[in-house]
Amino acid sequence: MIGIEEATEIVLSKIRDWGVEDLPLEKAFGRLLREPLIADRDFPPYTRVTMDGIAIAYSAFASGQRQFPIEGLQAAGSPQKTLQNPGHCLEVMTGAVLPKGTDTVIPYEEVRIREGVAEVIPDEFKQGKNAHLQGLNRKRGELIVPSGKWISAAELGVAATVGKSFLAVAAWPKVCVITTGDELVEVDAVPLPHQIRKSNAYTIQALLREEGIEADLYHMADKPEEISSVLNSCLDKYDVLVLSGGVSKGKLDFVPEALADLGVEKLFHRVRQRPGKPFWFGESQERNTVVFALPGNPVSSFMCTCRYLKPYLRKSLGLSATNPLSACLAEDFSFAPSLTYFLQVRLEYTQDGRVLAYPVAGKGSGDLANLCDAQAFLELPEDRTDFFKGECFPCWPYVSPEKAFSKKQ
Ligand code: AMP
Ligand code: MG
Repeated sequence: MIGIEEATEIVLSKIRDWGVEDLPLEKAFGRLLREPLIADRDFPPYTRVTMDGIAIAYSAFASGQRQFPIEGLQAAGSPQKTLQNPGHCLEVMTGAVLPKGTDTVIPYEEVRIREGVAEVIPDEFKQGKNAHLQGLNRKRGELIVPSGKWISAAELGVAATVGKSFLAVAAWPKVCVITTGDELVEVDAVPLPHQIRKSNAYTIQALLREEGIEADLYHMADKPEEISSVLNSCLDKYDVLVLSGGVSKGKLDFVPEALADLGVEKLFHRVRQRPGKPFWFGESQERNTVVFALPGNPVSSFMCTCRYLKPYLRKSLGLSATNPLSACLAEDFSFAPSLTYFLQVRLEYTQDGRVLAYPVAGKGSGDLANLCDAQAFLELPEDRTDFFKGECFPCWPYVSPEKAFSKKQ
């Protein structure tokens, strides 16, 4: 049986490149950008009025003038006007082009308007105020967002501004989640006493959805012929197969054999970890498909998805697969077996920037309710038994900090 480092190395050695696709802007959120975003115009593209008020030629103000007859109005969205008389002013609205012949905007709050004349109240005023100079932020042709960045709301705003109605993004693989088990029934069924509703399909699908992947769902009974035929057709249709169940040592755990018969090479089976010991991983070179066959226990398949499948997907996109996050135990904890233990923890983000991990160990790998009390797995090394308060370990969160934070009012 291999350890988690070796398992990780093998999984990450099988990364694929799934290419690039063009998506409409509104569908590109959360995807990985595969083209640079370049300013097609200056940012801002014209010297922009930033306050509602009057635009003047500062020289008039500097020479002592305080009364400015209003020549007209420069609205946002109108072509640039010209101040005809340097001793006059134009009323201007936020977002308008600063009129020719003016350089300073005095907001309405600092002006008294009577009978078509604006009187400037303050004695002093800074030249150029409230005019956002053309090209001040970025110049035309400048790189604003490099290729390879995640598209967050901020990148979407830039893409829209530079006129990208379609964006080249990293294509995701075609993924399916295949559950196995004769004891499983649909969510809307009333289970018989010996049955349970299937939940893994939905947890794994949701974990993948966080990455932007929409996985299709299949189910197979614990029957060799059915397993073979479902797997055979899925190996053709998908780039990544995620299986849940049927990989342990039970008499009806037919998955490894069926995969072998279909020419899927086993790269490892069983990892020195808890939960998730029966994890099976392989690939079909012929069909260019990788197979993550995860144990059916809900916490096991959940953890393996977070710890192996997600990093695999990220590395395939050219991103770092190592987890940058670590968290520090808030209480002592002991775990005796010689296995890496993925301890479920509740996270607390402290005012001084630390992440504390409170153990919520749960009652084994079938305890899926416990996943709702925790927010992450803390990776405790296999060569130790006692772990002490204050020690920090790699942490695999499945709830984002801001969501972990929000408590009921
Ligand atoms: P297996 O890996 O097939 O031996 O299953 C291990 C345990 O996980 C059994 O108790 C199964 O009933 C349970 N299990 C397997 N698949 C699912 C699923 N899709 N949803 C919920 N529990 C499951
Ligand atoms: Mg089973």
